Amino acid sequence: MARIRQEDVEAVKERTDIVQLVGQYLTLKKSGHDSLTGLCPFHQEKTGSFSVSPAKQVFYCFGCGKGGDAITFLRELEHLSYVEAIERLASTAGVTLRYEGDSAAERRAAERRKSLYRANEQAASMFSTMLVSGKEATDARAYVAERGISPESIETFEIGYATGYAPPPGSDPCKQSSSTTGAATTTG
Ligand code: ZN
Repeated sequence: MARIRQEDVEAVKERTDIVQLVGQYLTLKKSGHDSLTGLCPFHQEKTGSFSVSPAKQVFYCFGCGKGGDAITFLRELEHLSYVEAIERLASTAGVTLRYEGDSAAERRAAERRKSLYRANEQAASMFSTMLVSGKEATDARAYVAERGISPESIETFEIGYATGYAPPPGSDPCKQSSSTTGAATTTG
């Protein structure tokens, strides 16, 4: 398995803000000098017992007991390996990762993962644009409005809509950035 150089891991940690990361998944409200609270994404609840400390860069849920740093949060929520979580955060933070004993095969594997993340992001944004403005998505828009999902939520959670037909050759973003494997998002 690929091992990311420790100094690069440190750079990723340094440039990652847990408040920003967590804020992509739930709404946080300031609740004290060094704490923000929100609804825990790891268990069902109606009052927020999920707390984030910007100073310590950690989270803790008083309801289910989950806690840790930004890496733990992303790993648990997205079911990622340690390496995958670091790679995801590195891409957000703009850190180029180097690997221990960087063999050609490991570099290729890392490149492949990177292109899959990219394809996934592009697909998500394409489906989201489709939902917001695509003329095929009229019914989907009505459904989403009926469910009370706001345009802000659509943007924040990248809720998307995919039509039943295959896009014409050359216009599929999945194929452009990843030659052999398509990536799909399941939102909404
Ligand atoms: Zn919880």
